[in-house]
Amino acid sequence: MKKPMLFLMVLLPFWAQSQVPTVTRSTEIAEMVDQVNVSNLKNYMESLVSFGTRHTLSDDQPNRGIEAARQYTLGLFRQFAENSDGRLCAEIDYYTEKADGRRVDRDIRTGNVMATIKGSDPTDDRVFLVSAHIDTRVSDVMNRNSDSPGANDDGSGVVAVLEMARILSQKSFSATIVFALVSGEEQGLLGADYLAKKAKAENWNLVAMLNNDMIGNSASNGTEIRDNTRLRVFSEGIPMVETEQMEAIRKATNGENDSKSRQLARYIKDVGERYVDQLEIKLVYRNDRFMRGGDHTPFSRQGFTAIRLCEYNENYYQQHQDLRTEGGAKYGDVATHIDYEYLRKNTAVNVAVLANLASAPSIPQNVSLDLSPKAVAIENINHTLLKWNAPENGTATGYYVLMRETSAAMWEKKFYTSERSIRLPYSKDNYFFAVQSVGESGCESLAVFPQPIR
Ligand SMILES: [Zn+2]
Repeated sequence: MKKPMLFLMVLLPFWAQSQVPTVTRSTEIAEMVDQVNVSNLKNYMESLVSFGTRHTLSDDQPNRGIEAARQYTLGLFRQFAENSDGRLCAEIDYYTEKADGRRVDRDIRTGNVMATIKGSDPTDDRVFLVSAHIDTRVSDVMNRNSDSPGANDDGSGVVAVLEMARILSQKSFSATIVFALVSGEEQGLLGADYLAKKAKAENWNLVAMLNNDMIGNSASNGTEIRDNTRLRVFSEGIPMVETEQMEAIRKATNGENDSKSRQLARYIKDVGERYVDQLEIKLVYRNDRFMRGGDHTPFSRQGFTAIRLCEYNENYYQQHQDLRTEGGAKYGDVATHIDYEYLRKNTAVNVAVLANLASAPSIPQNVSLDLSPKAVAIENINHTLLKWNAPENGTATGYYVLMRETSAAMWEKKFYTSERSIRLPYSKDNYFFAVQSVGESGCESLAVFPQPIR
């Protein structure tokens, strides 16, 4: 089987090797995306803000405080579970957060609300994690008593994650999808840090983590901009955790713009824009906003691939503010400011990306750029020879080989092959390359930046 195919590759002109199937929307994923429902998002939001405050240190009360909100979201997840043919399960993962002399002034029992769609393939241990933070704050980060609706920060992320769980739990995926509503973000990324360390300690095969934090506001304060057509994806360039070998390869290949998190960001732009209309996804080349962090950061610190999705414009009258009117201006993160059409689109991006990732085979293994004497012989030197192995999970019916100029943000050219190598008449000096596995459903894996081999 293999030999005749190689023979074909030699004989056929280059263009015939790369009949690119145009990437179209999968009907199944498009249907899931269409199910994101504004009324649901509104209803969840109304309930969420009705708990008064969701401050991490707030007292347990039946209808007020973070624990009541955790119970509400757990109840919703369990409701979705009932319609999931046993695929979805949910629980609160409680733990004790010790007083730290900073933003936690006493030992508290806290926890993350977790829901899981177990993958259908028992041999596939991949996990895709999506998160939002359930806790809120006002002007004083230690104020646990005042009303703190946190509609946008991060009620928007929470209701989005709930709606994703509702929709995705109706379907079966070979890989596992985990939904996390974490506590303690405002007190120092505590719930996410706990979860990231747990994932590391338990050796999860956590392939990608998507943090949704503030995705429902479309109005910027100060500049009078209202724009619900752009969403930011923050991703680290140089990984926070690198072995000496990873660092050496990154420097040798100039791979500083091709970290796994940056590949995930490109994937989100590619797949998100494929399924969601009237939305431009903007890659921001930093881990988070200037000098700030979010719940993906503890995951990056544990060496996981993690990004943050965030609205394009922020309104600081509505962020971390006591509810008040001052000098004619209204302050506070109330639900009336949410742009639900924008929130719908941003939720839909997550649905499309998670469904695509969890339906696709895993990444191709050992993706390498051949620098052997034959590959760099004079007749081959201006070509690029890439090789790889089949993915560990799922079946690849083919592979996309991606190419872009070194100064381009996004992949510009895509070649399809059913082989596990390709020889391209483009110089490795002038372009960057990567390879994705493509499954039978047409869904593609994350892209892998090649390592040089001699
Ligand atoms: Zn936040």
